[in-house]
Amino acid sequence: MSETEIPHACDVLVVGAGAAGLSAAHAFAAQGRSVIVVGKVETHLAGRTVALFEGSLRFFRALNLWEACEPHAAPMEGIRLIDDTGSMFPTEPKEFRSREIDLDAFGQNIENNALVAELAAAARANPAITLIEGFLDGFELNYSGARAKLVGGGWIDAQFIVAGEGRNSQARQIAGITVKTWTYPQTAITVLLKHEKPHHNISTEWHKRSGPFTFVPLQGREGAPHRSSMVWLVTPREAARLQALSPEELAGEIQDQSHDRFGHIELDGPVGAFPMGALKTDRVTGLRLALIGESAHLFPPIGAQGLNLTLRDVANLVDCLEGLDLDEPDPISRALRRYERDRARDIGFRVNSIDVLNRSLLVHALPVDFARAFALNFFSAFGPLRRALMREGVTPHGPTPKLMRERPPVFSRAARR
Ligand SMILES: Cc1cc2nc3c(=O)[nH]c(=O)nc-3n(C[C@H](O)[C@H](O)[C@H](O)COP(=O)(O)OP(=O)(O)OC[C@H]3O[C@@H](n4cnc5c(N)ncnc54)[C@H](O)[C@@H]3O)c2cc1C
Repeated sequence: MSETEIPHACDVLVVGAGAAGLSAAHAFAAQGRSVIVVGKVETHLAGRTVALFEGSLRFFRALNLWEACEPHAAPMEGIRLIDDTGSMFPTEPKEFRSREIDLDAFGQNIENNALVAELAAAARANPAITLIEGFLDGFELNYSGARAKLVGGGWIDAQFIVAGEGRNSQARQIAGITVKTWTYPQTAITVLLKHEKPHHNISTEWHKRSGPFTFVPLQGREGAPHRSSMVWLVTPREAARLQALSPEELAGEIQDQSHDRFGHIELDGPVGAFPMGALKTDRVTGLRLALIGESAHLFPPIGAQGLNLTLRDVANLVDCLEGLDLDEPDPISRALRRYERDRARDIGFRVNSIDVLNRSLLVHALPVDFARAFALNFFSAFGPLRRALMREGVTPHGPTPKLMRERPPVFSRAARR
């Protein structure tokens, strides 16, 4: 797109064209807003998949986006947890089935690259969305409006900015939002695998001393009927060693770590390595600005919560701004106070509970091992608690945003500028 062709004004400007930003662009376009989304569409993330739970699937279905994604996705009908810590208090393997909470599946697992590619293709085909594959550098957030500077020239004026540009969000910094970050002595090794034995649509998570080692079901394909994605949290030193192995050697180590549950294993793509860290902010809003996704929260991939939480950010933000004339600053301020309030508990709960769970694996102390084993046995033994735990992972408590309800929403056309 040449500079003269770039539109310079919109209702909603979305920063970042990752899964978060593109999802937000679609949701606001469906609300009747004109949307510009700026970011490079990246579809070369090695070995990464996202397990999307029921609420997220409803979100994509409501926006007519899931049909294109579904052929790339595999259902997760069960979750198996295996204690492989060698603790003095070992727990028996636990298996949770989606039918226990009346769902055909807990969710669907899809390659990040396929999801982002489909969301970007749908954005390009949507006349309400302009996708600019560029970069923004500089934001002005004012009572009367917002603007952002496009690298290479030009400003984009917007009534509202959605910051979906990930952990190093510049919009967040300019809005003066305080961020607390920390790291874990872990790197996630990710790779897609083909294996000899079927996964039966069950995700298997071994809890090891370095963190979880997880196989999540993937859609089979010709010549490779049984496929899974693997996430293995190891020390950075161990990650470097694993990355230096040949594909055959690495596959052999993965087969050993999985105790041969899936038989012979081969790598089915490049290997990724992602250092583990976490992030939380003191606010998720600024003047005419809302943070979504990893600009607002980050944590290790335990329980497949990251993008699911992000989509709840988006769905909630859309509800908060529904029917508002974005020219009017006061109603926006009120809507943002509601967004702030609504998101605080959900985000705080995920960041903190995943932190505790992750550290409980890393700490080698008998009382911690005992507490972890006790909690897992306790929650899985009692039907109502067990089902509550499963529901919390899939469709968390609290008000459900309209885009995540069982019946798809009918949007009132928002006032256009
Ligand atoms: C190993 C692993 C496994 C995971 N598994 C799951 C799972 O099973 N389920 C789940 O829900 N979540 C999972 N997650 C989390 C999930 O992958 C992330 O939450 C999600 O991919 C983040 O997407 P995002 O769009 O917020 O951020 P990003 O993908 O980081 O996208 C942000 C984009 O913004 C761009 N950008 C930055 N600054 C600017 C700027 N100034 N202008 C324009 N563009 C900009 C960046 O280049 C980038 O493309 C996992 C994470 C990891 C590490």
